[in-house]
Amino acid sequence: TVRTRIAPSPTGDPHVGTAYVALFNLCFARQHGGEFILRIEDTDRQRSTPASEQMILDSLRWLGIEWSEGPDVGGRHGPYRQSERGDIYTAHVDRLLASGHAFRCYRSGEELDRMRDARKAQGLFTALKPADLYLDDAERERREREGWPSVVRMKVPEEGSCRFHDMLRGEIELDWAQVDAQILLKSDGMPTYHLANVVDDHLMGITHVLRGEEWINSAPKHLLLYDYFGWQMPELCHLPLLRNPDKSKLSKRKNPTSINYYRRMGYLPQAVVNYLGRMGWSMPDDREKFTLDQMMANFDIQRVSLGGPVFDLDKLTWLNGVYIREDLDDAAFLRHLMQWAFNETYVEQILPQVRPRVETLAEVMPLAGHFFSGLPAISAEQFDATGIERERLVTLLQFLLWRLEALREWDKEHLLAEVKLLAAHFELKMKAFLAPVFIAVTGSQTSTSVMDAMAILGSDMTRARLRHAIG
Ligand code: ATP
Ligand code: GLU
Repeated sequence: TVRTRIAPSPTGDPHVGTAYVALFNLCFARQHGGEFILRIEDTDRQRSTPASEQMILDSLRWLGIEWSEGPDVGGRHGPYRQSERGDIYTAHVDRLLASGHAFRCYRSGEELDRMRDARKAQGLFTALKPADLYLDDAERERREREGWPSVVRMKVPEEGSCRFHDMLRGEIELDWAQVDAQILLKSDGMPTYHLANVVDDHLMGITHVLRGEEWINSAPKHLLLYDYFGWQMPELCHLPLLRNPDKSKLSKRKNPTSINYYRRMGYLPQAVVNYLGRMGWSMPDDREKFTLDQMMANFDIQRVSLGGPVFDLDKLTWLNGVYIREDLDDAAFLRHLMQWAFNETYVEQILPQVRPRVETLAEVMPLAGHFFSGLPAISAEQFDATGIERERLVTLLQFLLWRLEALREWDKEHLLAEVKLLAAHFELKMKAFLAPVFIAVTGSQTSTSVMDAMAILGSDMTRARLRHAIG
């Protein structure tokens, strides 16, 4: 049977790109009467968090994307979290070491940099090959004895080219010269993406790998690994990446990319799924509006077009309006509105912000309304009232925006650290620095705590409001 998977890394907000790839994997599997599974690729222990994993599962479910095996539902091929499969990877690396397809490498970071620089200076590819990395026996034994950190790398050909088949692109040919002796096991004993991904796809019986085109360059390494293990490689299909309207790769700097954002802005899950289904794909009769069931029933991977699909907020908003007008009667509209406005996990975070500040329930909405709206309308007078000159104010918000774009951990503590740093940089008291931030994020200067608001609203919504305020 056909088995497909989505293999997200839980390192941040749930990405619309993840939902898009999941949707196509689900449709492909269903159309062949097969199965779609979910695996968590959390081998990057620094950046992976349980909270991110939970958000990814929640947001895919919200969209109606269901998997038959996964960390939360179990299944025959578990565990479905790579951090729980350590023994499996070491056993497989041992196999490659024994068969001579991998080797232990004791080279230091500086040595590697030096070798790469030397190659660059000669105008060569910087990929390092086993022959570049080998040490003579005496030196290797010395480093081993002295307990130098080491990694396990795979052997790769020096020259020639690698050919593989892609379901959409046909034959792809890449030069081996560009492929380096990839690390399989890091010095901390954790596997890299390449090893864990190949081992798991095989052990989990994956027959078709549909993933973003950014992974094409990894295919030669994967092909070799399947070969070394004596396994058959799944069929590969690299989907076109989503793009901003200016055709650059969809990125959070220009567009909200978190599903949380779309949910919080009040888009309906069926409209978002429908819109994602139109990313490079179309129904046989070209209709714009279709349900997930209709998409599954009519799916054909060969109808995916490779021209970069543009994720256009205005089009999504238009489609969402069509759903609200055409598909929801008053009862359904009410149900959606209630679920959206009174989502318990969300509202529970807001209550502590509100309760100490109100004497009647009627005061709640004026105070906390910004938690339930999109981009607040802001007047120039509001900003003028801060006493900060307009140009400086824009610079200040822009700096905050830049800092927040790079912020990995979105919680009050990390947000506060950023704000303190910037306030000091601009030689402003915290209160003065926060005044325009208050207005930008909450729409008013008298609101609930802005630091808490940013933490609760999340990264994409906060940044969208800052961008909106800068204008
Ligand atoms: P950004 O450029 O906004 O920082 P990113 O590339 O850092 O995004 P990641 O967190 O690396 O995003 O990716 C999360 C998931 O989303 C990955 O599985 C990745 O394949 C997918 N993804 C990221 N960008 C796109 C895109 N433009 N189209 C489709 N999928 C994408
Ligand atoms: N963990 C990878 C990601 O985050 C999976 C890539 C793949 O599908 O092979 O996208």
